[in-house]
Amino acid sequence: MGHWCRICGSIRPNEKFSGKGHRNHICKACSRKPKEEIEEIEQREEIFNYLKQANISKKNIARLETLTCSSNKKILELATIVLEVARIKPNKKRRLKFLAKEHGKLLLKLEKSGLIMAHHC
Ligand SMILES: [Zn+2]
Repeated sequence: MGHWCRICGSIRPNEKFSGKGHRNHICKACSRKPKEEIEEIEQREEIFNYLKQANISKKNIARLETLTCSSNKKILELATIVLEVARIKPNKKRRLKFLAKEHGKLLLKLEKSGLIMAHHC
């Protein structure tokens, strides 16, 4: 039996986790990574999750606005795309079809950034 690390995304033996790491789902090796690196993985995950939700709420949109001010260019880019999607079509239902019809450029951005994967799982 092991424990799942949400940073490296793998199941690792329990002894690879400290008490705090166990709670936070971060193994000892990953907890030694630079803060920026951990933050990037977490925020990337967070942004993907917004697209997986049935609806992106106003609160989520406010959070995405904050993320578009990130000093991390990758996070800034992803947040900008998802924010645009959230404003046009917060509901997941038929979102891709709608974007394909009305907002081809935005759909292309979803494809290029890999964010479109959030719609397939
Ligand atoms: Zn790890």
